Amino acid sequence: MVSLLAILLVVGIAHLFRDGSKETKEVMAYDFSSINVAKPAISEMFLTKNVNSRPGTALNRINGIVIHYTANPGTDAEANRNYFDSRKDFPDEAGYKVSSHFIVGLDGTIVQCIPENEIAYASNDRNSDTISIECCHPKKNGKYTKKTYQALIHLAAYLCDKYEIEPEKIIRHYDVTGKICPRYYVKHPDAWEKLKSDVDVYLKKSLKKTKAE
Ligand SMILES: [Zn+2]
Repeated sequence: MVSLLAILLVVGIAHLFRDGSKETKEVMAYDFSSINVAKPAISEMFLTKNVNSRPGTALNRINGIVIHYTANPGTDAEANRNYFDSRKDFPDEAGYKVSSHFIVGLDGTIVQCIPENEIAYASNDRNSDTISIECCHPKKNGKYTKKTYQALIHLAAYLCDKYEIEPEKIIRHYDVTGKICPRYYVKHPDAWEKLKSDVDVYLKKSLKKTKAE
């Protein structure tokens, strides 16, 4: 009888834990265990200079960071970078102008398409004073993978530190034009607030770490 009760208790506790983990799965939990505000691994694959995706116009001031999603489910960073590069073969028309400074891939690989001292064609009226980051995503809903998310937070924190940008100056493409980009973080404002707060916490924790060292 006692052993039967013990079994029931164990099963009950296991069930509780299972339910608990189910619930937290919906919220992207950032793993702060290996924070480092030093430059993340970035693969520089600069676009060919051309009127449609890398005009070579100087980016003289950086007042913010604009976050996007590729709107191309399942495609990876290099494929999107090559798509931007292929714009060089098209006529000099507004419809062909598209690019981004960075693209974060599904596995967290960061590809840089444009140097930080040149403008990208990503964020309309804010191209002239922001750095743009496109993120790949596996599904139509635009939610980033955990690896993409981790790499994005590191990259954003690194850029905030480098250019003295407050995390609240990180905006969505949506905040510039009303375009539903990055989709998941427009549809889920709580996830967006969490993302910005994760960059803020990352910066504060790394600052503390640097001081302690
Ligand atoms: Zn966008």
